[in-house]
Amino acid sequence: MEAPISCSAKAAAVCGHVARTQTGSASSTGSLRSSSRPSKLGRASAAGVLAGFALGWKGKARRRHRFTLQAQKGDSILVLGGGIGGLTLAMRLAQMPWRTKPQVKLIDPKERYVFLPLLIDYATGVVELDELAPLFDELLQEAPGVQHIQGVASEVDWRRREVGLCTDEAKLDFDAVVLASGSLRMKPGEELPGLSRALSDGKALCFRSLSDADALRARLPFVSSVAIIGAGYVGVELAAGLAEVLPDVAAAGQISLFGSRFLPGCEEANQARSAELLEKQGIIRKTGRVISIDDDGLTWSSLSGDSREHHACDLVIVTGALAPPEYKDMLQLKAPLEDSVDQGRAAVDEYLRVAPGVFCLGDASAGTPATGQIAMQQAEVAAWNIYAQLSCLPRVAWRRFKPSALGEFIALGSTEAAGVVEASQMANLLPPALPPGIARLASSATAAASEIQGSTKVDIGGKPASLLRRLAYLYRLPGLRHRLQVAENWLRRSSRASGDISANVLPGL
Ligand SMILES: Cc1cc2nc3c(=O)[nH]c(=O)nc-3n(C[C@H](O)[C@H](O)[C@H](O)COP(=O)(O)OP(=O)(O)OC[C@H]3O[C@@H](n4cnc5c(N)ncnc54)[C@H](O)[C@@H]3O)c2cc1C
Repeated sequence: MEAPISCSAKAAAVCGHVARTQTGSASSTGSLRSSSRPSKLGRASAAGVLAGFALGWKGKARRRHRFTLQAQKGDSILVLGGGIGGLTLAMRLAQMPWRTKPQVKLIDPKERYVFLPLLIDYATGVVELDELAPLFDELLQEAPGVQHIQGVASEVDWRRREVGLCTDEAKLDFDAVVLASGSLRMKPGEELPGLSRALSDGKALCFRSLSDADALRARLPFVSSVAIIGAGYVGVELAAGLAEVLPDVAAAGQISLFGSRFLPGCEEANQARSAELLEKQGIIRKTGRVISIDDDGLTWSSLSGDSREHHACDLVIVTGALAPPEYKDMLQLKAPLEDSVDQGRAAVDEYLRVAPGVFCLGDASAGTPATGQIAMQQAEVAAWNIYAQLSCLPRVAWRRFKPSALGEFIALGSTEAAGVVEASQMANLLPPALPPGIARLASSATAAASEIQGSTKVDIGGKPASLLRRLAYLYRLPGLRHRLQVAENWLRRSSRASGDISANVLPGL
């Protein structure tokens, strides 16, 4: 989709910014202000933005370049959500060669960043809290100019170029905003019957956040039978992780995995390897739809719907789309942008924009798989495009987003994994300069890979895949200091477990 920002829109945005800094009440954050109605200038600029949007979407390049030499001072960038996409982007913005540093505000209700791919390892006790979830304040010491604001963003008003927070009447102004909240408000859908009650009674848990993982960790010693709803990669990884820490429960056939499809969208080789390992662990796979949850377990039906069965268990864990959103007050886009949202994800153009100045990435953006890998790639592109927009670089200098598939890993406990990697991307999985000991291990892991017939992909399984996955994730943890700290913890832990570091370079390996 070709959707250039027009210079009319840009100019209006610039006017809007000037108007706001002139009329807005000062606050400690610089552009936080209380406003229920726009000022006269604000209204004029809003009209200008709309007109610019309309013109810009179809307008001619000549018209677009009229204002590109306009000077920019201390622009305000809001990043809504400090997950994998939002934090990566905010840290990258801090490294851009700005002539005048913008104010970057990262808004997230939590005090800790959570690297979700390690959430199961945390729930099962393989990694500790500081490794999974460092404090934003510590991470952002490596990103000068980026400020963390603890809050829930409730709405984005593109016309007024401001964001509302749930807890505050005040609004935050922006020159560019990034929607990185994982999902956006959508029309209310049907909830799984019985789920709300089961969640409040503690009979069910969701699995998507740090507090969910804490709740599961606390329950583990008492679990004697568990049903996991959702056979996507989170459900499968969770089943395998639980079987490892609850071997007796698994051996008794008391860990069940329900889903209408097994690892949908995943590589066939990974599906086969995962199915084999789950069977070996004693996990029971049930193919069908869960219809409701009750006090004693759940009711499910086969895919054809002609049989219904009750399944008794003392804990139900809900993963994937059936899990309700983490925050009741989800981020809402105000007219006319709300029409771009479908199933909680917004349609974006090739520059990752919902509209001029409104960028969207990660799970909140439509059209790409909802993975951390994609969110990080998008963060790089969106950070550059924000820099390009605010520095008035010509459109040819903007980056178009094209996903690049590095590979797919499915963790099957702390020492096993299934992995399929694009051969040409092998080198991109890991940092170019690994310490010699780790590089030796990595090369023996990649040597264990076998080519998948008739494709350019390689299939890696077992311990080598698990090792590669961990190294690749270690490399993708935010902030150099945090990464080194985690690497040191892992090495210390593994050398305590065994004197032979080459056999135990990472937890459990
Ligand atoms: C258990 C689990 C395991 C996973 N494993 C993998 C894996 O191995 N590999 C992989 O590639 N992907 C994995 N994923 C998927 C991956 O984690 C997501 O695709 C990725 O985190 C999406 O990044 P994001 O920035 O869009 O959203 P998130 O990382 O979900 O971050 C969203 C952030 O926005 C904040 N937020 C939400 N609403 C608001 C609001 N209104 N205002 C302000 N802040 C808000 C939240 O607090 C959160 O910090 C896994 C996901 C889960 C749940």
